[in-house]
Amino acid sequence: MKLTEIFKKNTYSLSFEVFPPKTDDVYDSVKTATEKIAKLSPAFMSVTYGAGGGTSRYTLDIARGVKEQFGVESLAHLTCVSSTRDTVKERIAAFKAAGIENVMALRGDIPKGMENADRSTWHYRHAVELVRELKESGDFCIGGACYPEVHPESGSQSEDIRYLWEKVEAGCDFLTTQMFFDNNLLYNYLYKIREAGIIVPVIAGIMPITNGKQVERAIKLSGSFMPQRFKMLVDKFGSDPEAMKQAGIAYATDQIIDLFANGVTNVHVYSMNKPDVAAAIQKNLSSIIGKNA
Ligand code: FAD
Repeated sequence: MKLTEIFKKNTYSLSFEVFPPKTDDVYDSVKTATEKIAKLSPAFMSVTYGAGGGTSRYTLDIARGVKEQFGVESLAHLTCVSSTRDTVKERIAAFKAAGIENVMALRGDIPKGMENADRSTWHYRHAVELVRELKESGDFCIGGACYPEVHPESGSQSEDIRYLWEKVEAGCDFLTTQMFFDNNLLYNYLYKIREAGIIVPVIAGIMPITNGKQVERAIKLSGSFMPQRFKMLVDKFGSDPEAMKQAGIAYATDQIIDLFANGVTNVHVYSMNKPDVAAAIQKNLSSIIGKNA
């Protein structure tokens, strides 16, 4: 099923993300985590794609398993920046052959050491090129990434939104946001993109921070602003794993309830292959999920 059909229902929904194993030896543990998360019956599950090779091999495998074995709709990620046109064409054909209907079209991060390279020779420079290719090559439901706190490479938010508009015009059916820890940043951003004429569904991406070490990495990757309330929580509980887990789940739950109360209907949880975290958040919202928005 295309995810747009799910978004049309206008009911409060939660979806979860898994990432494929980086090495073969942990494949089974990722499969087990995926199965446990699928058993929560989320609206859909996304499977990330490693930009520089690495975890990309298993994306299709896991996305297909989620759909066929566990009966949960899947969203397979695909990046393009370090790929050739032929490789991307092959991947798209493989997605199609496997019955994947939903693809998240991403540029991917620029590989280390290539930041200052001559980009004129690259086969792909921006996600919009992949969106066009997916649109031409099949009947996919296409997602794109968006950044309430501006993509780190953008000169300004208005420039970022202008390129986002182009990406949506090229064929994105929905957008998923980068993680954020202050909902007001999202509300502000939604107002601006709607005003710019971007009217596709926007899925809010929420990252539950459940251990102190994860904070630094998450902030480094996303450049997200940490509200004082969140900083206090990490300072206080960051060194106590069980306490931090409980506090992180509570913070994410609180964020999601506020989003639902303010007109956002679909939330994607960056569940990081942690079924217990996904289950705890879902349980906290059990009387809300599935209700009409
Ligand atoms: P783009 O849309 O190409 O944007 C990148 C930058 O280029 C922005 O600054 C934008 O404003 C600018 N830009 C866009 N179009 C143009 C243009 N035509 N001309 C000039 N500038 C332009 N990474 C992975 O490796 N694997 C994953 O599975 C993955 N999943 C993700 C899921 C979500 C929801 C998000 C938010 C990010 C994900 N990422 C993933 C990270 C993503 O690949 C990086 O953030 C990357 O740096 C940008 O990807 P993009 O698709 O947003 O790129």
